[in-house]
Amino acid sequence: MKNKKTDEKKIIFVVEDEPDIQELITLHLSKSGYRVEKFLESKPMLARLEKQEPGLILLDLMLPDQDGLEVCKILKNSSQYAAIPVIMVTARTEEVDVVLGLELGADDYINKPFSPRELVARVKAVLRRGKHSTDSEEPVSQRIVIGDLLTIDPQKYEVTVQDKKIHLTSTEFLILKMLAEKQGWVFSREKILDRLWGDEKDVFDRTVDVHIKNLREKLGPAGKLILNIRGVGYKLEL
Ligand code: CA
Repeated sequence: MKNKKTDEKKIIFVVEDEPDIQELITLHLSKSGYRVEKFLESKPMLARLEKQEPGLILLDLMLPDQDGLEVCKILKNSSQYAAIPVIMVTARTEEVDVVLGLELGADDYINKPFSPRELVARVKAVLRRGKHSTDSEEPVSQRIVIGDLLTIDPQKYEVTVQDKKIHLTSTEFLILKMLAEKQGWVFSREKILDRLWGDEKDVFDRTVDVHIKNLREKLGPAGKLILNIRGVGYKLEL
């Protein structure tokens, strides 16, 4: 059965100053059932946010009015907008920027030139991870309590460390949940990428490392629960 209802999750802000690319993105997202709002610069988009919150923002890193990384920082440092997933759109040479962007809290990135199929798949994958996912087929999981240090509530999408709430991006949350659900199990980077990006994992391994690094920092005293098993991957253990 097709769901024709336009929920907020289906609205995507596209910030891209190259008209051709903007058109291409819009065309394919529209065809997949998303409602697109287009912006050639970042400032009108930030202003628009006050009226309309999108389900996701596709953000070009090279914009005429402001560096995309700066925009990402503004979004992720704002308590109001931090939860909106951001996919950065970059040129392939900007690997450093990608790592920086992920450190700032972006959920994913896509390299130019990209295929429309890849773009739509990435958007879907990130939205699937998001907390507002209504059409998720995954059953809601139980609260996970790890000692008196860490609690993960998948239903409320909440993480607390020693009773203090921690704000995670949807990607960080999913990685944490994955590790915590199977305490002591070692997950390879490959496995984590698989889970997060599905078949569309045209991403470098470092992506996982960057997300884990952010996650550890945000978790504070509980950060030490996440262990790096050299040459293998990561696990969470008390
Ligand atoms: Ca650009």
